[in-house]
Amino acid sequence: MILLLGGTAEARELAARTPVLSSLAGRVSNPRLPEGEVRIGGFGGVDGLASFLSSEGVKAVVDATHPFAAGISANAAAACARVGVPLLRLERPGWSDLAQAGRWHWVDNHEDAAWLAADLGERVFLSTGRQSLPVFEKVLPVVVARVVEPAVDDALLPEGWLLLLDRGPYTLEGELALLRQHQIDVVVTKDSGGDYTRPKLDAADELGIEVIVVRRPPPPAGVDVVSSVDAAVDWLAAR
Ligand code: NAP
Repeated sequence: MILLLGGTAEARELAARTPVLSSLAGRVSNPRLPEGEVRIGGFGGVDGLASFLSSEGVKAVVDATHPFAAGISANAAAACARVGVPLLRLERPGWSDLAQAGRWHWVDNHEDAAWLAADLGERVFLSTGRQSLPVFEKVLPVVVARVVEPAVDDALLPEGWLLLLDRGPYTLEGELALLRQHQIDVVVTKDSGGDYTRPKLDAADELGIEVIVVRRPPPPAGVDVVSSVDAAVDWLAAR
């Protein structure tokens, strides 16, 4: 059996092309489910994942989780190394090649993004995910934050904050309208890469808005990495 650590569009595409057991964290209540067999929920750290790999007779693991899901990627690397199961990391390319002259600012973490956003503008559009919001709350008074699902403590958001619930797909026209409607002057994003969430960046460029991009955490050392679903299919076929 092949274990596919998912939660991304690439993982769903791979699951549609190859028989795998897809694994989701269970973060959202109504996830987009991949085709084929699915399990939901954490494994219980490196020990739990290593036990799962052994007890289920997993032959290979593809880690197609989001570039910012560094915890599960590190766990996969450690667990696979421990029990001798081959591991492939499928990670879509980032947006560094898109950087637009002068208006794209790269930072190493959400804290730096928050302080830079406060320097650069007054009305910030945040699409860095629900878990990152507390970092920005301390620094930014006026924010439009877009998340997939609300969190229990969202009622405590600062007065000048507006929470939008949307999981896409997003269009250039829609993103232009959103940025204009809220008179946004800074967009903050993670370097998620891919086309799915890219229209906000094209819209920001068209409107001349500053963009702050949080760099990705580095992938675990010593793991094979591919950047396309085709390459992952080939890697699996070779096994
Ligand atoms: P994370 O911080 O790297 O992982 C935290 C814990 O969640 C892991 O230790 C593991 O629990 C569990 N987990 C994560 N992904 C899992 C999976 N695919 N299957 C089973 N357990 C999983 O992860 P995260 O950033 O919260 O992301 C959670 C999920 O959302 C991932 O599947 C990711 O692909 C998806 N996602 C994340 C982002 C993002 O920006 N971070 C964006 C879009 C989608 P145990 O230690 O108990 O095994």
